[in-house]
Amino acid sequence: MKRKNPIIIPRPEHTLSRSMLSPNAVQALYRLKKQGFTAYLVGGCVRDLMLGREPKDFDLVTDATPGQVKRLFRNCRLVGRRFRLAHLHFEDEIIEVATFRAPEPDESAEVESLPSTATTADHGVSKPARPPRHLKSDEGVVLRDNIFGTPAQDALRRDFTVNAMYYDIGDFSLIDYCEGLDDLKRGVIRTIGPPAERFTEDPVRMLRAVRFAAMLGFIIEDATWSALVELSATITRGAPPRLYDEFLKLFLCGEGEKCYQLLRGSGLLKALLPGFNDWLERESEGFPHTRTSASLDWVDSRIQEGGKVAPQLLLALMFGEYLEEQGKGFRQSGTPLQQSLDMAVAGLLGELAGSVLIPYKVGMQLREILSSQHRFRKTAGKRPLSFISRPSFIESMDYFRFISATTGEGIESLRWWERFVMENPLPPESKMEKEQDTMTPGIPAKRSRRRRRPKKGLPQQSP
Ligand code: ATP
Ligand code: MG
Repeated sequence: MKRKNPIIIPRPEHTLSRSMLSPNAVQALYRLKKQGFTAYLVGGCVRDLMLGREPKDFDLVTDATPGQVKRLFRNCRLVGRRFRLAHLHFEDEIIEVATFRAPEPDESAEVESLPSTATTADHGVSKPARPPRHLKSDEGVVLRDNIFGTPAQDALRRDFTVNAMYYDIGDFSLIDYCEGLDDLKRGVIRTIGPPAERFTEDPVRMLRAVRFAAMLGFIIEDATWSALVELSATITRGAPPRLYDEFLKLFLCGEGEKCYQLLRGSGLLKALLPGFNDWLERESEGFPHTRTSASLDWVDSRIQEGGKVAPQLLLALMFGEYLEEQGKGFRQSGTPLQQSLDMAVAGLLGELAGSVLIPYKVGMQLREILSSQHRFRKTAGKRPLSFISRPSFIESMDYFRFISATTGEGIESLRWWERFVMENPLPPESKMEKEQDTMTPGIPAKRSRRRRRPKKGLPQQSP
């Protein structure tokens, strides 16, 4: 599989054309090229365009270092410690620009850095030591991957063969170092190099393999799948905030139900959510738990229709039945209803804290969705206006909508609330806040240009 010389497919022999790219990506590629740098389109966008799919985002790779990219683009921000790269901010998208990486620490590839270990004295003033550019944990997880290299080295550092093809803006050719095109044609997800090694370096790649297979309708190649199953328990070595991001991507990619089946089949779900997984494997009152699967189908349909699902709603749908049952258990031992639900939610967040780190705010919104359900039954109740202006009302109603569609209960109440919302539209401000909250991960929210007005009565700070 590894080849020194890539397969080069000239423009007339492939279907990818410049007109399919985002104009911002084209502009950035040309600016880099004009300054004498090599610049390629890479990753998911090349893969998706070759498959006739719309790419989620455009990623570039170049031999310019992050510092050089920053000097070239005014809209550039450098991000990431583990994997330093440049983000180019445009009005409605962010283009990611990475620098070619080398596989192993190689001092000759150092371009911009000071020595990584010692403190340097400069005119008698001590500067703090620069962190190492490459770092591995005792378990072999790569904690820093910032050694720059060549296009060939960079292709081999990528995760899967289908994600490692370059599109060269210089001559519009496709450059394939890893036989990705063959795997793309066959519909196969295969790691570049030994799968066990690649999953040990970065366990999050196991979740990515599942997502790409589900999203593209591909199969995971045998050796890659065996390594994934064998190493599934090590998924918790991934950093919890990254695992949360990847968790959302898995279930909000439009093929969440397929992801869920692959996660169960591989042991990854058991490793991430042992308590929930045990519960799934037990029956409740003689019935298997099928609501999780049905709720993910519901999420998939909404996403495939171009809709959005907020993280708190996804969590409520996925874990609702589990949490209700846990809550019931607490109630039987005398705890009041709301407190029982709170305890169940706290238990789930605690179970997840060591792996998938759910932000506090999202946890609170999940609790709000579940604990407000009883309110939908009381249409004649007090102050429905104050209920519909609660921050998680829309998601709470979506949850109620799902439950009434699956159980056939509460349909009349749902109609009543839908009518009430139509007749009493939410003020635009709360809608705006909601849009920010419900952004799909990976797609940046547009920032508001509004500035805060200074508080009355406070003295203005002079410049
Ligand atoms: P999508 O954007 O559709 O989710 P993608 O393949 O573009 O899929 P990104 O997270 O945008 O995924 O990453 C861009 C590219 O960077 C990938 O295609 C892959 O080549 C490389 N990459 C991303 N994450 C990893 C990783 N954990 N290990 C190795 N390479 C990676
Ligand atoms: Mg991408």
